[in-house]
Amino acid sequence: RSIIIAIDGHSSCGKSTVARDLAKMLNIAYIDTGAMYRAVTLFALRQNMIVDGKINEEQLRNNLENIVIDFRLNPDKKLNETYLNGENVEEKIRSLEVSNNVSPISALGFVRKHLVALQRRMGEKGGVVLDGRDIGTVVFPNADLKIFMTASPEIRAKRRYDEMVAKGLTPKFEEILENIKERDKIDSTRSESPLKQADDALVLDNSHMTRREQLEWILNKIND
Ligand code: C5P
Repeated sequence: RSIIIAIDGHSSCGKSTVARDLAKMLNIAYIDTGAMYRAVTLFALRQNMIVDGKINEEQLRNNLENIVIDFRLNPDKKLNETYLNGENVEEKIRSLEVSNNVSPISALGFVRKHLVALQRRMGEKGGVVLDGRDIGTVVFPNADLKIFMTASPEIRAKRRYDEMVAKGLTPKFEEILENIKERDKIDSTRSESPLKQADDALVLDNSHMTRREQLEWILNKIND
């Protein structure tokens, strides 16, 4: 199938979960564009290009070509994982340090230009579901189906909190909630491709929906 499905929406509202479920169900590829912004952020942090939240933009710009990102299948988990310069960084890009620095990195026009070009190359063969903030508005404005996902900040924070607890971590709920609200604010007010609903996107508020219900909701839209 050469279908292109765009899933955009707020942070931590379960876009990647439903996008993965959908990709598996339709037997098409899944591209986690947030993971790509996170990988660039991890690279910048490691190279000391972010100090006390301040980004050395020139250094990052000069190094963009040295940041190679790809997705590779983990056959055990049957999931794609994110690789940065050949290293599996799937876990590392989910740290709070990366989460706290990713929005300013993704507000940089030259970073976006670079990653959008890469996303188009990865997706243009079709048969793909992408999730992010600007897929339906910028990356693939001609996508076959556009979903805009959202849920209340408290519900999103609770889900992320539960996820971290399940991994054996000891997160602070208030800290997570703050991070989510802060990212919403930066993502929707930045000048470069701010998070906004495409005119032809369908809104999916999953505050009170199960994973299964969300998948079925989207499958119904495809069949409409
Ligand atoms: O989806 P996720 O929360 O992993 O994305 C991390 C961050 O990357 C977001 O908070 C946002 O700042 C940025 N992002 C973006 N455009 C995308 C995907 C993610 O700006 N298409």
